[in-house]
Amino acid sequence: MKAVLDHVGIAVTDLEASLSFFRDALGLEVEAPEDVPSQRVRAQFVHAGPSPLELLQATAPDSPISKFLEKRGPGLHHITLRVDDIRAALAELRQRNVKLIDDEPREGAEGARVAFIHPSSANGVLVELKQPARVRPEPELPKTIRLGDIDIVTVSDGFFYLDGGAMFGVIPKTFWEKKAPPDERNRIRMAMRCVLVRGPRTMLIDAGAGDKMTAKQADIFRFERDFNLQQSLPAAGVSPADIEVVLATHLHFDHAGGFTERAPDGTVRPRFPRAQYVVRRGEYEDATHPNERTKGSYFLENYKPLADHNVLQFVDEDRTIMPGVRVRRTGGHTMHHQMVLIESAGKTAVFVADLLPTAAHLPEVWVMGYDLFPLDTLNFKRAFLREAIEREYLIIFEHDPTIAAGYIRERDGKRYVEPVA
Ligand SMILES: [Zn+2]
Ligand SMILES: [Zn+2]
Repeated sequence: MKAVLDHVGIAVTDLEASLSFFRDALGLEVEAPEDVPSQRVRAQFVHAGPSPLELLQATAPDSPISKFLEKRGPGLHHITLRVDDIRAALAELRQRNVKLIDDEPREGAEGARVAFIHPSSANGVLVELKQPARVRPEPELPKTIRLGDIDIVTVSDGFFYLDGGAMFGVIPKTFWEKKAPPDERNRIRMAMRCVLVRGPRTMLIDAGAGDKMTAKQADIFRFERDFNLQQSLPAAGVSPADIEVVLATHLHFDHAGGFTERAPDGTVRPRFPRAQYVVRRGEYEDATHPNERTKGSYFLENYKPLADHNVLQFVDEDRTIMPGVRVRRTGGHTMHHQMVLIESAGKTAVFVADLLPTAAHLPEVWVMGYDLFPLDTLNFKRAFLREAIEREYLIIFEHDPTIAAGYIRERDGKRYVEPVA
């Protein structure tokens, strides 16, 4: 069970009087008080980092807070711990002979499920477990961008979360947290957005994380894949068998996990039965020989079966993959990381992959800590951004949680991304 401190409840005799300490002496920010008629209490939240304090004053003599004050006087009333699965948590506690007040979870505020544990089992502290209401993330539906004679469709494999510090390298959290607010485990939300190119042939560029991840990985990366490629490709009018070419920017799991799938007999096979998979040779070499630093992102099952099924095609240099689509090595993130340029009728769109994972990475020095060669990223990015502004490239972001595509503009020496609708 993973329990995270949600808030600390403190019983007070007089809310207003208690603020002379919490608000005035400590200088903490307080919210407006709120009545909870079902509990006959008035609650007031005090901000104190990720876990606030909840001051509780009774509004009736039969309130649980009145009884608590009578018996023990003002002070710590309860702590609330957030859990992912409250039923599983209660079952586990019961098995360990922990005395529960609530055998079954009940309805709490904002649709949460809550249950109390008896203080006699918790060193005298009243503990509340809370499973917040699950917010189903909005699916990202396919978006079609017409570029000359080519249709570019962004398709989603859902979202996942990566450590915010690692995503922004040497940039302090005080700067990046404004652009990418982290969750309670310091992770930021990232899209796994792939690109479907409908030109002379049907091509898919990258394929998200796929569904071969373990429960442990699902916990670490907090996948939100209720709506993934399995739904977004049909929504774009394409079936897996329609894909003729799969092109890889590189072979990290969040880009190549969807290249293969587990068959009913447990073996792993290519996910797109008629596709040839195009991969940079150097990237494949590195991905099949990971080191201590790179093995957290390279999983053989994502690309080794492609070689076994003879559907791999290697690229050794920057070149055209099909008319209108060419690759350019960026290096930096990995030695052979490449971006994809899509060109038609004098217009250019660029799928930049992990060169510029999100729009927040626009400043040149906002380079990921994950990058193996950060100074190469910096140099490539500096030159590329100038080129992208001058030639008005349409940039497609693979990981930005909200902006699928946009133009990089420069005004009065300031750069920004102008999203396209
Ligand atoms: Zn990567
Ligand atoms: Zn990535």
